[in-house]
Amino acid sequence: MTAARDARAILARLGVPDHAFAEDGLPTRSPIDGSAGSSVRTASPDDIDHAISAATIAFEAWRRVPAPRRGELVRLLGEELRAAKTDLAALVTLEAGKIASEGLGEVQEMIDICDFAVGLSRQLYGLTLPSERPGHHMRETWQPLGPVAVISAFNFPIAVWAWNAALALVCGDPVIWKPSEKTPLTALATHTIARRALARFGDAPEGLLQVLIGGRDVGEALAADPRVPLVSATGSTRMGRAVAQSVAARLGRSLLELGGNNAMIVTPSADIDMAVRAIAFSAVGTCGQRCTTLRRLLVHEDVAEALIARLAKAYATLPIGDPREDGVLVGPLIDDEAADACARSLAQAVEEGGTVVSGGGRLGDTGTYVHPAIVRMPAQTPVVLHETFAPILYVLTWKDFDEAVALQNAVPQGLSSCVFTDSVREAEAFLSAWGSDCGIANVNIGPSGAEIGGAFGGEKDTGGGRESGSDAWKSYMRRQTQTVNFSSSLPLAQGVRFEV
Ligand code: NAD
Repeated sequence: MTAARDARAILARLGVPDHAFAEDGLPTRSPIDGSAGSSVRTASPDDIDHAISAATIAFEAWRRVPAPRRGELVRLLGEELRAAKTDLAALVTLEAGKIASEGLGEVQEMIDICDFAVGLSRQLYGLTLPSERPGHHMRETWQPLGPVAVISAFNFPIAVWAWNAALALVCGDPVIWKPSEKTPLTALATHTIARRALARFGDAPEGLLQVLIGGRDVGEALAADPRVPLVSATGSTRMGRAVAQSVAARLGRSLLELGGNNAMIVTPSADIDMAVRAIAFSAVGTCGQRCTTLRRLLVHEDVAEALIARLAKAYATLPIGDPREDGVLVGPLIDDEAADACARSLAQAVEEGGTVVSGGGRLGDTGTYVHPAIVRMPAQTPVVLHETFAPILYVLTWKDFDEAVALQNAVPQGLSSCVFTDSVREAEAFLSAWGSDCGIANVNIGPSGAEIGGAFGGEKDTGGGRESGSDAWKSYMRRQTQTVNFSSSLPLAQGVRFEV
C-alpha cells in the first residue's frame, strides 16, 4: 500500500470532511515513497479576511469566559488527542516522514501541553504592589490579547500548533493556524480532532479555532493584518525576518521560533558512551530536521580520534529507510529539494576544506533518503555557520575550554547547546553568564528533545521567542497595571500638588 493511500484511510477514519479537499487544490506527496495524496483546498484572500473577522468576533465572547472554564476546553482537546493518538501519529509519519516512535512523541507532546495548560488556566497569576499613596492599592493583571496567528513549519507539523493553541485558549485568545504547505493533512486531521473537543465543550464561539491552508502568501496576509495582535511564527530565519518586519511595521507583537545551529562540546572527562548515544539521537534523529538537531560537534583534541571512530562505526549501521518499518531510525528528508540542499552543503563543506568521515550521498540516485554524514572541518567556515536542514554533523577540535565556548557561541543562531563533561567547573562555566549564549543549555544531554515544562526558544537569529512552559503564556496576554483609590482624597504620586 502506498503511503498516500495509508494517509487517505486515516483521514477518512478521523472524519476529515470532504470539503477540505479540492482537485485543483494544494497537492500533497509523502516523502516515504513519493506517492501523491489528496489535494487540499487552499484559503483565498476572502477566506483569510473572513477568518480574521470571525476570530475577532469570537474574541469578544471567549475573553468573557472564566479562564478555568477555558481550561476545560483544553482538557477536552487533550482527551480527544489521546483517543486519536495512534492515527494522528501514523499520519505524521506518512506526511512528514518521522519514524513511528517520533510520530507518537509528537502527539504526546501535544497532550502534555494540554495538561500543562489546564493547570495554567487556574494560575494566570498577577501581582499586588504596594502603592505610595494612602488608601490605594495597585495590582498587575494579565488580560486576554486577541486573535493569535500561528504559522508553523513542516518538521513539527502539529506539536507547534498545540504549544501555541493550548496556551492561547486558556489565555482567552482565538487561534488562526497557517500550517506548513508541506504538511496540510496532519493540520486538517488535528483541526478535525479539535472540532470534536469544541462540540463537546458546547458553547465555544464559532471562529475560536480556525485553520487556513496555503503557502507563504497566507502567512504574509496574517502577519500584515492589524486585527491580529500576536503572530507566532515557527520556521526559517528568512521567514522570521519577513514576518518580524511586517508585524513590527504595524506595531504588532511577534513570537519567533526560528532556525538553530546547535552544538555539543565534548571535554576529556566526558562519558564517551553516553556522548555517542546522545550524538546519534540528536544528529540523525528526524533525519536531521529538528530545529534542535545537533549540527556542530566541538570535541577536545585528546578525545577526538576515539570519539570520531566510535561515531563512524555507529553511523555505518544506522537503519535508514521506510519510517513505518520497525527498527528504522532514519527516515526520509521532507522532499527532493531538501536532499539537493544536503548534497550542495556537503560539496561546499569539502570545498571549504572539510573531510567527509562517514556517510553523505543519497541512498539511490534520486529521492529523499540520504546517508547521515560526519564531516571534519578545519574551522567554522561559511557552510558551518549556515543551518542546512539535513543530517550533516560538522566536527571541530579545540584545546582550551574557553575556546570551545567561544566556538559554540560564534554562529548567528542561538537555540540549543550542550556540554558533555564530568567536571563541575566546566559544566557550571558553560551555564554561567559567560557560557552558552543559547536559549537552551544542557549538561550531559544532547541539544534536542526538550520537555514542554521549560520555556522553549532561542536568541539571535533564532528570533528570541519563548513558547511552551514556564511563563511563556505571558506572550499571549496583555499586562495591565491597575490602581484603585479607596480613600476619600486624591493624592498624586511623587508628591505632586495640583489644587483646583
Ligand atoms: P519555512 O520558513 O520555509 O516555513 C515555515 C512556515 O512559514 C510555513 O508555514 C511557510 O508557509 C511560512 N512562510 C514562509 N515564508 C513566509 C513569509 N514571508 N511570511 C509568512 N509566512 C511565511 O520553514 P520550514 O522549512 O517549514 O521549517 C524548517 C525551519 O523551521 C528550520 O529553519 C527550523 O530550524 C525551523 N524551526 C524552528 C523551530 C523553533 O522552535 N525554533 C521549530 C521548528 C522548526
